[in-house]
Amino acid sequence: MIRRVWLVIATCLLAPITASTSLEKRAALDNCLADLGVPVYVADSKDFTQAIKPFNLRVPFRPAAYAVPETIKHVQDAVTCGVKTDVRVNAKSGGHSYGSHGLGGEDGHLVVDMRHFNNVTVDLEAHTAVVGSGGRLGNIATALYDQGKQATSHGTCPGYVLAHIYRYVAVMSVCRLTIL
Ligand SMILES: Cc1cc2nc3c(=O)[nH]c(=O)nc-3n(C[C@H](O)[C@H](O)[C@H](O)COP(=O)(O)OP(=O)(O)OC[C@H]3O[C@@H](n4cnc5c(N)ncnc54)[C@H](O)[C@@H]3O)c2cc1C
Repeated sequence: MIRRVWLVIATCLLAPITASTSLEKRAALDNCLADLGVPVYVADSKDFTQAIKPFNLRVPFRPAAYAVPETIKHVQDAVTCGVKTDVRVNAKSGGHSYGSHGLGGEDGHLVVDMRHFNNVTVDLEAHTAVVGSGGRLGNIATALYDQGKQATSHGTCPGYVLAHIYRYVAVMSVCRLTIL
């Protein structure tokens, strides 16, 4: 009984400390991203609200911040900010993971949304294509055809992204698709 009472008291005392720490962390993270010029969706803006809608509606999470980098430097700076402020960082490509892992799989992550990294460059001689991790199935299939009348096996959902195709085709290294 005494143990239980202590547990309740300790929880009540620690809760505000944890909350304020995470608020401070979030403020430090926002400042860092702003200082380094990393594009973000501001918390509770229309874009933010839309972007954090999970594919699996049963598993919603709220990120600490939502970066939408446009350059490699932005990605590097976002990761730097996460490390500096001790906030977990994860990439989000299409956000199709059943467990909402693209949103971190828990509250409080810095999400690095890869939507602007969707280039597809086909090398016809090598029979490979370099595909950005934000590339969606529809864009990839179209680019493969446009750039060399090539194709890869895929499903019928044009919104799927590269992480999905990695698993689907299961033959390639991080950014190189072997054209079948
Ligand atoms: C309707 C539906 C059908 C599906 N069918 C299949 C299927 O037939 N076969 C199959 O294998 N899977 C299937 N999946 C699962 C899906 O392929 C995986 O969840 C895949 O990871 C989704 O890719 P995504 O880019 O949307 O990932 P996200 O949800 O954006 O991210 C998933 C994980 O990958 C990480 N990640 C994303 N991008 C990067 C990156 N650039 N670098 C490093 N890490 C990154 C994220 O941090 C996160 O941990 C299906 C999912 C759905 C919703």
